[in-house]
Amino acid sequence: MSLSPDSRPKLVAATANPHKLAEIEAILGAAVELLPRPDDLGEVVEDGDSLAANARLKAEAVSAHAGQAAVADDTGLEVAALGGAPGVRSARYAGERADDADNVARLLAEMKGATERSARFRTVAVVVFPDGAEAQAEGVIAGTIAEAPRGDQGFGYDPVFVPDGADGRTFAEMSAHEKNAISHRGRAFQALAAELGL
Ligand code: IMP
Repeated sequence: MSLSPDSRPKLVAATANPHKLAEIEAILGAAVELLPRPDDLGEVVEDGDSLAANARLKAEAVSAHAGQAAVADDTGLEVAALGGAPGVRSARYAGERADDADNVARLLAEMKGATERSARFRTVAVVVFPDGAEAQAEGVIAGTIAEAPRGDQGFGYDPVFVPDGADGRTFAEMSAHEKNAISHRGRAFQALAAELGL
């Protein structure tokens, strides 16, 4: 039996970040119809104490609002020399209103002179269904923190993250396609698709 595009299961995305949406679409788009985050839903307070808790908070809020299954993810950069920081606080590392440049600047300041620069990105992706059922998956990529930002692709900490097993470029020096193939988020959504049998 051939499936028409409209027969794909629908998932409402909890993120409004266009970079993340494109990454999620690239991985799940063939199997699910990704619907945009409802405009009239306010910001969800991410006060969970883990990536999984925050992803669940976002997916639950969107699913309750939309009355449909929703997918959310939460990501942290975990730096060994900083005891796993910024971790769950990655988005607010340089303060409540910090932007990407502020967070990168704080990270480089904290790492000044450090020779042990290993780090990893970890993403937890969660789907919540209207009946409360849930599926969860995780993706990790190990790497090192560069001495200075390089590249202008991507977002967040991409300019200072050099993934292991590549050619020394930062994520911000890679195309979206190259990054998706090995990224924490790519791996989390691949695992989520498997978990959901997609
Ligand atoms: P979120 O939980 O995905 O919203 O992200 C938490 C923090 O990690 C934010 O500061 C993001 O900019 C950063 N971040 C999330 N994903 C990535 C990524 O793929 N590359 C670089 N930084 C990221």
